[in-house]
Amino acid sequence: MDSSYDRYVLVAKKEIPVPPPLPCLATVSCHQKGFVKNIPSVRGHCCVSTAARDLWECLFNEGYRADVVINTDNSGVLYAHASILGMASPVIKGMLRKAKKHGHQRLISIHGVPHDAVRIFIRFLYSSCYKKEEMEEFVLPLLVLSHVYMVPQLKQLCEWQLERGSLTTDNVVDVFQLALLCDAPRLSLICHRMILKNFKVISTTDGWSAMKQSHPKLESEILLSMIDEENSKKERIRELEEKKMYLQLYEAMEALVHICRDGCKTIGPHDKDLNEDQAPCNFAACRGLELLVRHFASCKLRVPGGCVHCKRTWQLLELHSRLCSDSEVCRVPLCRNLKDKIKKQGKKDEIRWRILVKNILRAKTIGRSPFFVSIYD
Ligand SMILES: [Zn+2]
Ligand SMILES: [Zn+2]
Ligand SMILES: [Zn+2]
Repeated sequence: MDSSYDRYVLVAKKEIPVPPPLPCLATVSCHQKGFVKNIPSVRGHCCVSTAARDLWECLFNEGYRADVVINTDNSGVLYAHASILGMASPVIKGMLRKAKKHGHQRLISIHGVPHDAVRIFIRFLYSSCYKKEEMEEFVLPLLVLSHVYMVPQLKQLCEWQLERGSLTTDNVVDVFQLALLCDAPRLSLICHRMILKNFKVISTTDGWSAMKQSHPKLESEILLSMIDEENSKKERIRELEEKKMYLQLYEAMEALVHICRDGCKTIGPHDKDLNEDQAPCNFAACRGLELLVRHFASCKLRVPGGCVHCKRTWQLLELHSRLCSDSEVCRVPLCRNLKDKIKKQGKKDEIRWRILVKNILRAKTIGRSPFFVSIYD
């Protein structure tokens, strides 16, 4: 249990994408008896006729010349044929080789699951058929049997049945443990997700209490994975917000160039008349910047470290000159002077700016403006 869970957790931590769909199980109903026959879709069509299937069913039901006796729980007995069981399950083949003989019959035992589950299991080995309602009732023991006796077609059907409808908040903890035991990674993943998603309800179920008792390590692993999930959710939100902030800074830089070059609303270059009825401005950052620039022009404390608005403007201007590709033609105030100042600045401060510039440019990798390049490239 532990090893498969550890393996599972390892895989789950790598943020697995949504599991791919199971290979298509084309099923056709055999109307007569309510049986469902599983036919792999690769074959394209069913090549087993109803008569042939009925023959196999009959062979199992009547036990004609059966040479295997299967003992089940509560003194149940089933009769079967060694050649069929051996061909359908490599594990039963091995059991038959070592089985005790009683006359011409060999004796094997399948315990730990209800008698009816064993009967449905053995019948499936004969005809690949099962009744829908029986599958719903015995899906868990059938999953175990198909895993233990290595019958992959039935195992896949059980997983499919569980994924498509038999999984509930009441049984998911049990199914999760079984899926780990039976090495059904896709089903484990689906259960795990369901547990994380409905933790409040599921942690009050009997299944959860039983698991707490019998597998405390598994419980703590699930709780840990809950914390992991929460943390990575928070981390994703933080990253998104950070990216948004860098994008806003980038847009502010674009708007600054636009205001100082073309003019916008009330501010423009000294040699250019502003057109009152110009089309609405495309730069969302313009309004805030306009207020800042106007303030900067009139504030008495126009020094770095002065009023908070001026401080902000200085930072934006300084950021601009770090991003500006050509200070000779640039019309943003102080662009050239600040560039000279930056060259003389201390290393420690520079590293912080360098990271900021890198992040801003990275946030806007598509549609990069021709006005900006990193001066650090
Ligand atoms: Zn504008
Ligand atoms: Zn000010
Ligand atoms: Zn510039």
